[in-house]
Amino acid sequence: MKRITIDDIKSRYKEYNKLYFGNQLKHCKFSVQKQCALGTYTSKRSKDGTITGHIWINTGVEWTEETLREVIIHEMIHHYVKSIDKRFSGLFGHGYPFLRQCRRLKRDYGIDISVIGNVPHHNEEPLPPTLLSIYKLCHFYYYM
Ligand SMILES: [Zn+2]
Repeated sequence: MKRITIDDIKSRYKEYNKLYFGNQLKHCKFSVQKQCALGTYTSKRSKDGTITGHIWINTGVEWTEETLREVIIHEMIHHYVKSIDKRFSGLFGHGYPFLRQCRRLKRDYGIDISVIGNVPHHNEEPLPPTLLSIYKLCHFYYYM
């Protein structure tokens, strides 16, 4: 897959919002950058209570369509939990409300969303454990 752009993220977000979230997700911005996490989610609450999400996708990764989909949906679940459930629970937001969405997507669409997200493979070699834990930390760090 060629290097991803914000438009790649936007069009997939739009499609997945329609397919898997009943078009309920609103107010979300997108950025692409080199970072150590595959994807990250941050959010801001304005004075009137509107929550604007921000999804960041890593451009330094050899994406496959499948992995990109999983990571975008993972971050969209964070946005759902934050802006619609308005809850925060579990380790860095991966608690019950998050897992409930994962279960729903699995049940209704057969989609597997892992909590950490798939780890990119480089030359078929899995990432060494140190990189893996850095990846986890970064996701959590950014999420906070
Ligand atoms: Zn997450």
